[in-house]
Amino acid sequence: MLLAAAALAIVLLAVFIVLRKPIYRFAGWAGPQEASTVLSPVATAPSLYGQGGANALAIYLTDAHSDWLGLAHGLKTIGVPFIVTDRYEEALKHRVVLAYPTISGRLLSREALQALAAFPRNGGTLIGFEILGGGLNEVFGFGDMTASRAHKTLTLTPAFAGRLLEEEAVIPLAGPSGAMPAEQFSVTTGNPVARYDDGSVAIVQRDFGRGRTYAIGFDIGAYLTKAYNGRQDYGRSYINAYESSVDSILRLMRQLYRSSEPLAVTLSTVPQGKSASFIITHDIDYTRSIVNAIRYAEFEKQQGVAATYFVQTKYVRDWNDDIFFNEQGVSLTHRLADMGMEVASHSVSHSRSFAAFPLGTGKEMYPDYVPFVKSQNDTRDGSIFGELRVSRFLLEKAVPEAKVQSFRPGHLAYPFALPQAMQAAGYRFSSSISSGTAMTHLPFQLNVNRENQAETTIFEFPITIEDELQRPMTGRVDAAIDILRHLQAYGGSCTVLIHPDVFDDKFAFLQQFIARAKTMNVWFGTLAQYGNWWSARNGVTLDARRELDGYSLVLNAQQAIQGLAVEVPNGWKLQATENAMQKGNIVYLDLKAGSSYLRFH
Ligand SMILES: [Zn+2]
Repeated sequence: MLLAAAALAIVLLAVFIVLRKPIYRFAGWAGPQEASTVLSPVATAPSLYGQGGANALAIYLTDAHSDWLGLAHGLKTIGVPFIVTDRYEEALKHRVVLAYPTISGRLLSREALQALAAFPRNGGTLIGFEILGGGLNEVFGFGDMTASRAHKTLTLTPAFAGRLLEEEAVIPLAGPSGAMPAEQFSVTTGNPVARYDDGSVAIVQRDFGRGRTYAIGFDIGAYLTKAYNGRQDYGRSYINAYESSVDSILRLMRQLYRSSEPLAVTLSTVPQGKSASFIITHDIDYTRSIVNAIRYAEFEKQQGVAATYFVQTKYVRDWNDDIFFNEQGVSLTHRLADMGMEVASHSVSHSRSFAAFPLGTGKEMYPDYVPFVKSQNDTRDGSIFGELRVSRFLLEKAVPEAKVQSFRPGHLAYPFALPQAMQAAGYRFSSSISSGTAMTHLPFQLNVNRENQAETTIFEFPITIEDELQRPMTGRVDAAIDILRHLQAYGGSCTVLIHPDVFDDKFAFLQQFIARAKTMNVWFGTLAQYGNWWSARNGVTLDARRELDGYSLVLNAQQAIQGLAVEVPNGWKLQATENAMQKGNIVYLDLKAGSSYLRFH
């Protein structure tokens, strides 16, 4: 009897919940009307990266099924001009050639192998990875190459590491799931410039007068691809730490390029050529947060700093929390935008199981889309498209004058289909991964399914510092400044996440961190401001040439960009011009779309 009464009570409660329709309805709001469609992925053609000046680094692509796209995205990020070609005649017109991923007698013609062998003798710099026969071992200065999966780290020698710090010269190659494949060299005429943890040689350099070779014992493209796709477990930290692995590799590549190409010009990674980028973000995923956010925003506005607010459009009452995206939520969101803050999406349901959500139909609309979080691990009726489309629709209804461009999932739950779904749903910028998982503090372009073949238009901005793992936050202001100092050495970006669920130590941390960062010549802005600048920069190509009376630099911009900076070789002096100025080796520019032309003597 008691049992029957209890059962009846449960049924009545269930009926009550259903009838109450625990969703907030905005009168007259229904959308988005237009459907989202993921195009079937087409592998990115190497020829997309086929154009560039003679001063560009050349990737001589010997296998299109390799991880060359990761390598290309890495070089884009660090600002080294490059071209990709599968023709050795084309590649060898450049002074720095990276033969990727394999040099072998089976893959390459006798003519190609001979031309590669002659290249360093004639003054070129040749970088190889997997060098399997073809008679080129001696050109690279080693006898044998042995594969192994036992190496845990690779350490650059101090001379080779150049400006990298001792800690930055150590690159982890192994994690709980094992080590990445690597090759060790028995050195003959070359010099070891990097070693594995067991002392065996990881990188060999050989000099030929002005020319040089490097044989690198691990696949840099594969390494970058794994890291960018969030598929590695080599990283030494998850978040709240400086994790330099990918950035060290990119800085090393830039150093090799600059030291071998007399006309090397590279793009800066920070707007206005400042020392580092500083992006403050707040996730609003709790009833109090949307109210508290106003005080955070008022403080930021008073500091002259625009921040990004990732707002969960919570119109469904569920296991997680009460509804807070209602009339009041909309008016508070609008106030954030009025204060100059970026309004971005933090999903609808903020589900822990988002990574396992189906893609959905691309036709999900408010108010029909009702994802329901039943418990920690159980969410009903959610889809990736529903979360992306409906949250964006509602935020753009709340702030009609703004475009919602950025997205961050709850709990950083990261579905494999997220990059292409974001693109299809109209987003541009993602902040979905920690810097420890991506092993980088620089933005990068995302691929379809977080794989290695097809790129999307989405850029990822990893999170370096968050607010939950170590409290009180005030205890780690010095540590945060220390991270920022490391990033200043190469123009890294520091994306900070603070939930405005409370003030306490979090607000105090923000006050102290901003006050100190302001004395450090860093660039402050929202994710969308940085993202728009970054994507315009991504569309800039350049070509430097020697002229009779100096040098010329032609920059091609797909769209206008303000506050671009380029680093030019020592001794170059900019001739007076309107939209550029030089300080040391850095030239600061505003570019209009199309070609711009600078002269140096
Ligand atoms: Zn959240």
